[in-house]
This record gives sequence, C-alpha cells and structure tokens, in this order.
Amino acid sequence: MARRSRGHDFLYEVSSVPLQQALRHQHTAFVNFFAGRARYPRFKSRHGRQCATYTRSAFRWRDGRLFLAKMDDPIAFVWSWPEIDPAVINPTTVAVSRDPDGRWYASIAIDTGTEPEPLPVTGVDVGVDLGVSDFAVLSTGEKIPNPRHLERKARNLARYQRRMARKQRGSNNRARARAKLARAHTKVRDARADFLHRTSTRLVRDHDLIVIEDLNVKGMIRNRCLARAISDAGWGEFRRQLEYKTARAGRRLVVIDRWYPSSKTCSACGHLLATLSLSTRHWTCPGCGTRHDRDVNAAKNILAAGRAVSACGADVSPQGSSLRRSAVKQEAQPARAGIPVP
Ligand SMILES: [Zn+2]
Repeated sequence: MARRSRGHDFLYEVSSVPLQQALRHQHTAFVNFFAGRARYPRFKSRHGRQCATYTRSAFRWRDGRLFLAKMDDPIAFVWSWPEIDPAVINPTTVAVSRDPDGRWYASIAIDTGTEPEPLPVTGVDVGVDLGVSDFAVLSTGEKIPNPRHLERKARNLARYQRRMARKQRGSNNRARARAKLARAHTKVRDARADFLHRTSTRLVRDHDLIVIEDLNVKGMIRNRCLARAISDAGWGEFRRQLEYKTARAGRRLVVIDRWYPSSKTCSACGHLLATLSLSTRHWTCPGCGTRHDRDVNAAKNILAAGRAVSACGADVSPQGSSLRRSAVKQEAQPARAGIPVP
C-alpha cells in the first residue's frame, strides 16, 4: 500500500474513502484506455484541478451542514441551489473540488427517487448543422452565431501566460501570476459552458425530435487551421448535453452518419451535386432551380434523414403511458444509422 511507504504519511491525514475513490477513477481510466476510447492515463499535477469524492460512509449531512470524515468542523459553504432546501435532502455522494484559480466547490448528488417529468409535446422537429462561422444552423433557417469566447479572450490568456513565464520559478510572484492566468481560463470555460447549456436546453425544450450529424471531432481537431475554432465551439460537450437532456425530457435525439452528403444534396428535389467547395455559401440547384443557403440546406437534409431513421424505429408504437416510458429509456442512447446516398 502506498500509505505505508516512506514519505507518504500525509495519506493518513485524510479519510480512506477519497483515496479508494481515486483508485476507482484510475481503474475507469484504464478501462477506457484499453477499450480504445481514451489515451493512456496521465499523472495528475498538484497545481491542476483537485477533487476528492466522499461516498455515504465518509460524510454526514445534518440539517444542511456538511461534515467530512477526519474533519471536526462542518464545511462552510454558500448554497447555490435556490429551489431546493438543504435541510431536507439526503445526499448519496459529495465531491469536494478545487479549481486551479483557487475556488472550492462541494458537489452533492442526491437520489430524488422519481423519474423526471417528460416535457409537453411541441409538434416541432429540427435538424441542426454544426459549423465554425455559425455555431449551429437550424432547419428552420435560424442561425445561432458562435460566441468565440476563446478568440475574444485569447489575447488576455497570452498576456497572463507571458507574465507568468517571466517570473522566477517557485516565487510568490509566480504563484500570483499563475492564479490570474487560471482565473482567465476559468472565465473562458464558464462563458462557454453557459452558452452550451442555454443553447442545448432551448433546443430540447422547443423540439420533439432533434437530428444532428455524427461529427468526427477528434479527426477535425488534427487539422491545425481549424483546431482552435473547433475546440472553442465545444461540439462534443454540446452533443453530450443534448443526449442527457433529451433522455431526461422524453425527447428524441437522432445522430445520423457523418458520411451522409447533407451539404451537397438539394433539400427540395434530392439532386446531388458532384462537388461543393467549402467557400460556396449559396448555390442554385441545377435540378429544380431552388436557391439554397449552404448551411440551412444541410440542416434541412439532416432533419429529413433523421425523420427517415426515426420512422423505421420504435416510434410507431401506440402512445400508452407505460410504452412511452420504455421507449424513452431506450432512447437514452442516441440512434445511429447509415443513410444510403440517393
Ligand atoms: Zn433541387
């Protein structure tokens, strides 16, 4: 055991539960690595985000006060969950974390014991084309512009980074400069998370069926010209949010094959162009003469393809309440399908 080896006495100062949880997280990391989903796990720096997970046996929750194992006093915190009374909940897990900018958080998981209520049916479906110049273009013609948080704040990041690099290693000035840099990074991250949550929540609230393309995000990031813009946009996180929010709200999310030629197909007559360069923003269909906005046309095709997929899925079942619930559960995993090229 690492605890017994020399120089590791500090491991006795904390509860054994977060230590075991850290091993469990490491196990998950190796499982993901061997399954080919992730890279080899890295050692974690003391200066990065720190996190300790306490399961039920390692903390006590009394009248909205949190007592962690091996700590005598309750943790002082600010409650940020206005619609829930901290005195009546019964947490299952508490994760205490510290961001690199020095802010501490306690995240509490509770078991509500009830299924989330499905949202009322809207009768509206939508296809979503994710892009770089606009974050998303909807089949309705609406364009959601990219807020470009990193680009706008990159100058700040570079300046703080330079300032820190000039300070002597190990000095107090360097520590202060590092905290400022971490704060700037946090601002970018918070702004991006806020934008993604607002956008995904709105899409899920306003539509019964949401269709997106399966993007090869990792492959696209390898393209250096696009890497910054694509990482900045946060498509992977956006899709993750759509997946759990649609499942929670009883909506449907369909992910169509990334090789489906959504840009090159005419959404009015189905005519397929041989080529369409990335710089062409508008084009006229040689088959039916319709004038297309490149991204809106793609979003319309994505919607049509998603409807075709969901029509041959479980959607034909009658709308009984028990059947409905089981259908919702299945859809927690988004449907995948290949669309034949017309
Ligand atoms: Zn056409």
